[in-house]
Amino acid sequence: MTRSFDVVVVGGGASGLSAAIEAAAAGATTVVLEKNAQPGGSSRLSVGSINAAGSSLQKRAGIVDTPDAHFEDMDYYVGAFASRDNLAFRRLLVDHAAETLDWLMSLGLSFYGPTADPPNRQPRMHNVVPNSRAYPYYLGREARRRGVELRLGAQVTGLLRGDDGGVRGVMAMLDGKSVEIEARRGVVLAAGDYSNSAELKRRFRPELEGIPAVNPTATGDGHRMAEAFGARLVNGEVIYGPGLRFVDPVRPGLASRLPPSWWLGKLMQLALNHLPIALFRPFVMAFMTASLGPEASMLRAGAVLVNAKGERFADELQQPGLAIAQQPGGQAWLVFDSRVARMFSEPPHYISTAPGVAFAYLPDYRRHRKDLYHCAETVGALASSLGMSAPALKASLTAAGKAPFHALGPLESRIVITDGGLAVNGSHQVIAEAGGVIARLYAAGAVGQGGALLAGNGHHICWAVTSGRRAGRFAAQRLPSQDR
Ligand SMILES: Cc1cc2nc3c(=O)[nH]c(=O)nc-3n(C[C@H](O)[C@H](O)[C@H](O)COP(=O)(O)OP(=O)(O)OC[C@H]3O[C@@H](n4cnc5c(N)ncnc54)[C@H](O)[C@@H]3O)c2cc1C
Repeated sequence: MTRSFDVVVVGGGASGLSAAIEAAAAGATTVVLEKNAQPGGSSRLSVGSINAAGSSLQKRAGIVDTPDAHFEDMDYYVGAFASRDNLAFRRLLVDHAAETLDWLMSLGLSFYGPTADPPNRQPRMHNVVPNSRAYPYYLGREARRRGVELRLGAQVTGLLRGDDGGVRGVMAMLDGKSVEIEARRGVVLAAGDYSNSAELKRRFRPELEGIPAVNPTATGDGHRMAEAFGARLVNGEVIYGPGLRFVDPVRPGLASRLPPSWWLGKLMQLALNHLPIALFRPFVMAFMTASLGPEASMLRAGAVLVNAKGERFADELQQPGLAIAQQPGGQAWLVFDSRVARMFSEPPHYISTAPGVAFAYLPDYRRHRKDLYHCAETVGALASSLGMSAPALKASLTAAGKAPFHALGPLESRIVITDGGLAVNGSHQVIAEAGGVIARLYAAGAVGQGGALLAGNGHHICWAVTSGRRAGRFAAQRLPSQDR
């Protein structure tokens, strides 16, 4: 069975849906093939922040900011990989960020901010409200309005080669059958990152192979399919994590259950901008304590990590994420005494944060994550509340400190994001290992990162939407250079 479209988009996250909207707007018949039962990928699991300079929200708040300043501030985050950055794409990102944000708002998304995000010199972080499910919700709605066919549960398994050596379509599993889908003008790979691909992690960062990702279906399918077709991959070593994350609540928090409707977004935007945070703190905390991990400052202050048996297993100040993954069940607990508990009960010492929105302290965890929080007058009683061996826990807390004793957990270590992507040119056409572009093959979002380093808050989703829109437009136009 063969079906045929002008543009075939692989992946229905922020980049793929943006690509499809623009391709359809340019008159191309377009299909999005999404392997999961729902669209959104990592985009719908994210915090949802976008950093943008010169945005309409900044202007409304009287903040004077420029893409040049944003470009410079990104230097703070690139660290050891600085020399590998694709500065042309950093330029593209900062120059388009405000426009990208305006476009998203024109589709119905609401943002709170801009908020400060030091060391950025100006408040330029914009946080989506009510939650990041707004991305697939509004982008998917616009794609359908434009006539895009959005196929869920449609896993793309490979790229099809045309007579000229370029791409002529994809192989996909539709309704349990392997189907050829032709792309007359182009295929846009928008399949996300490889944070949960053991194979790619083993190749680039073997020490991270066994550490799972926040998004279990981020398996680098686009990277692998394109490489098998002759594409070049760059910056594969740039992987964020392992980070520590508390296990998800059995029942999802209120914020993650709310529909991302326009009125709710606007209501939250207004409330966050104009009302004292104390008024709706319980609501914000339900989100804050549901999906985030503890700050390393707790470990520096003296909290220790123990495993399910109550044994201390690592130097907490040396990348404990790697050691946590090797513990029974891959889990650990933070244990601390009353001094650390008091310290992390009020500003400035927070346990977790959604940057720019709010900070969560120990009383927030006590109230909103009863499943994670344990407290007892003796180390033995704490061990029994946690189901751990009392002698082991006592041995772990050699400098036990003062009662009562507290524990937070279980927590696990997770890879959050990977920055390695296919090499692409300024039109988001995929570049072959042998040089030159692969005809009719485009990449956007995480898989089309082209060597750009997007560390720091709010750059990945902005890149996904910006590059997705561009790739969709270029694919629909079918550039003459593709056929050479
Ligand atoms: C916990 C967390 C918090 C984050 N917070 C932020 C933040 O606040 N700000 C920010 O800028 N970035 C953030 N990020 C990063 C950001 O979410 C991602 O980099 C971005 O959303 C990637 O978008 P994408 O479209 O490239 O990929 P995705 O959104 O992952 O979409 C890719 C889609 O492709 C589909 N797919 C994959 N393979 C196939 C296949 N073979 N066939 C068909 N479909 C396929 C996937 O199922 C998925 O739906 C966060 C990430 C995480 C995990």
